[in-house]
Amino acid sequence: MENRYDLVIIGAGPGGYEAAVEAGRLGKMVAVIESGEVGGTCLNRGCIPTKALLHSAAIYRDAVTSSAAGVLSGDLSVDVAAMHARKEDVILKLRRGIDYLLKSGNIDLFKGKARICAPDEVHVDDGGTGKTIFADRILIASGGRPAIPPIEGRELANVMTSDDILSRRDAIFSRLAIIGGGVIGLEFATLYADLGSEVTVIEALDRLLPVMDGEVGQAMAAMLKKRGVKAIVSASVDRIEDAGGEGLRCCFTERGKAQSLTVDGILIATGRKPDLEGLFDPGLGIRIERGFITVDEDFKTSADSIYAVGDVTGGIQLAHAATAQGIAAVDRMFGTDVRVDLSTVPSCVYTDPEIASVGLTLDEALNRGLPAKASKYQMISNGRSVIDGLERGFVKIIYDSDTGRLLGAQLVCGRATDLVGELATAISAGLTVQQLASVIRPHPTYSEGLTKAFEAAAGSMEASR
Ligand code: FAD
Repeated sequence: MENRYDLVIIGAGPGGYEAAVEAGRLGKMVAVIESGEVGGTCLNRGCIPTKALLHSAAIYRDAVTSSAAGVLSGDLSVDVAAMHARKEDVILKLRRGIDYLLKSGNIDLFKGKARICAPDEVHVDDGGTGKTIFADRILIASGGRPAIPPIEGRELANVMTSDDILSRRDAIFSRLAIIGGGVIGLEFATLYADLGSEVTVIEALDRLLPVMDGEVGQAMAAMLKKRGVKAIVSASVDRIEDAGGEGLRCCFTERGKAQSLTVDGILIATGRKPDLEGLFDPGLGIRIERGFITVDEDFKTSADSIYAVGDVTGGIQLAHAATAQGIAAVDRMFGTDVRVDLSTVPSCVYTDPEIASVGLTLDEALNRGLPAKASKYQMISNGRSVIDGLERGFVKIIYDSDTGRLLGAQLVCGRATDLVGELATAISAGLTVQQLASVIRPHPTYSEGLTKAFEAAAGSMEASR
């Protein structure tokens, strides 16, 4: 039969295209259907464009503050269009890489919107006559899109989602309000503060980064304050009004008191919802819970031959988690050994300094009844941190005080997003603080802070024997 595959994958984001490459590696006939551009949210509207813009903004900030390092610069300004052009260039380069990966893996890419008609049949709406593809198995990796809460005035001009603001090559917004103090909100707060905007973050819960360790949120609040970002917590936005020539008025209630703020732009960064629009014909019986597709430990949905991974299933909504799930789903569906460890997923925030977290927090470990302890090292005495002016950070490691095994870590310091890779490896391999303390790390680097935290933990275990 024409267009018959072992596996058809819906969505070419980090979950979908990496799953396709894995299935190709296993010698399977694979098709991928993508309604937008390959790379998904991550490459086109998420991880990569935000970090490319943060890179430009950090250069600008460093140039503005360079006199403290003995470098005197002249008049500085930001060319927003050029910044966005560089971002597009980065995206294009990486998109070409994915195209090459798919081609070299003999994976067929169909452009269009997929609709699952039967457990082995997918229709592709390509704007023309369409195509029907048959497959033994279907993997849904259709990701998500910004969720917009029903705030009155959300349809006004310059009230934006992350998708919208990333495409605004015409404006910096000298006064920006960000609704939501989570990862996406704080990365945009850092970006716009670095570009010189007056930024206010409004968070409904009582601290920033509410899903992370409390000390991380506190440290972030202090560091954002230092660069002029105002963070308002325990506040909910009631409505947005057109303030005439003044811009937008963001009306909110803070601890029971009505407040308002006049700004030029408002970013809504309150979370994301799964992309299921038009995906299923009726009668397929795919179980959905709180909007997300439910899957079992093999990533199988309630329909036997249909699987799902990544943001569309909820859980940890990160690109590397989607990739690991995509690879594991393919390995499981074709009966080979799963080559990724799904239990340890680092999460990172690309603020300045960076934030990274992996494994358990102290509270989580204690709640599980583990004999957990924390060892914290303040980066104030770390050479690299002092050189880079980031000495207010810390590294905190959580370990089992009986066995010495590393259970988790939370980092607020320079290069935290790279350092966390070592800690993920250590947790995955079951390494102890004694083993980790015995390793020589280079000087002067942020990684010496890890050595100090491991040494203190190992010393404390030794002392209590
Ligand atoms: P997606 O990447 O969303 O890909 C899904 C794809 O499916 C899309 O290309 C879509 O067009 C396609 N699709 C949907 N429906 C259909 C259909 N019916 N037919 C055909 N195609 C369809 N994560 C990190 O790990 N690090 C970061 O730094 C980071 N930064 C982020 C910054 C922002 C602003 C945002 C919004 C997200 C960020 N994320 C980050 C999260 C990350 O982008 C997602 O977790 C990741 O992209 C999820 O991958 P996925 O494969 O599940 O879905």
